[in-house]
Amino acid sequence: MSVSVTFLGTGGSVPSKHRMLPSVLIRRGPELLLFDCGEGTQRQFLKARAGINRKMRIFISHLHGDHVFGLPGMLHSLAFMGRTRELQIYGPRGLADFISAVNDAVKFYAQYPLKVKEVRTGTIVNDTEYKIVAGPAKHGIPCLAYAFEEKPMPGKFNPTMAKKLEIPEGPLWKKLQTSRYLRVGDRKISSSLVVGPPRKGVKITYAVDTRPCASVVRLARNSDLLIHDSSFDFSASQKASDYGHSTSTEAARQAARSSSRKLALFHISAMYEDANLLLIQARRVFRNTILSSDMMTVYVSRNR
Ligand SMILES: [Zn+2]
Ligand SMILES: [Zn+2]
Repeated sequence: MSVSVTFLGTGGSVPSKHRMLPSVLIRRGPELLLFDCGEGTQRQFLKARAGINRKMRIFISHLHGDHVFGLPGMLHSLAFMGRTRELQIYGPRGLADFISAVNDAVKFYAQYPLKVKEVRTGTIVNDTEYKIVAGPAKHGIPCLAYAFEEKPMPGKFNPTMAKKLEIPEGPLWKKLQTSRYLRVGDRKISSSLVVGPPRKGVKITYAVDTRPCASVVRLARNSDLLIHDSSFDFSASQKASDYGHSTSTEAARQAARSSSRKLALFHISAMYEDANLLLIQARRVFRNTILSSDMMTVYVSRNR
């Protein structure tokens, strides 16, 4: 099952000619996980051909307008386009009031079940194959960073060895992958003879808007991809500090400190028509950095 990240909007605060407001879509097989919902996200979501009736969860980092003003439109559009499946939305305190105030004012009642969960830090979703952990970001108002983390997967199965050990093909093969031992007649067979060590799943951390801080480093530990606030370049460090954001250099340090494999610079200020400078500065600190752009898709592999 592949895991990909599509950056639907990569700007910050106000949209610019080239960047919409923040929203990131993780696709895990048929399932959708959407992080933040800036204005116009529903159009980007359609362009990405994400599918309107999939299993889907939305995570909101904080209640600044650039991260939530797209949410009412998104909920509205999904209803118009015929969504029937439940939709779960997670975010900090105040999110439920925001959604119900807008929906009440415009007399919108979703035809699909809409579940809004206000969360704090810790594991907020514990699905069979992955979890979502929230951690505190450091911003002017309560703000959550999120880590999507697949649970370890069973190791590679060796059918040649299974046949050699005369284990009948069928349900017993499946059982070997999930248990440590298998009884075949009077034999007790260790699964390690046939199944490789468990494979580590993918980890992606989403941390905007935030100053560089230890709690994000902890949350992002060993991420395959860290998507980090990178509003400004190094020369605007004071501005970044004043407004609760990060420079690309600070984002790069966060990537290095958390031993992440790859960094995506995100939430780029509209003052940069060309944000290449941010990329150059970040790469001096952390080589495996990319500059996100609207509708860019990155595949995150488990092969390592
Ligand atoms: Zn923002
Ligand atoms: Zn903000």
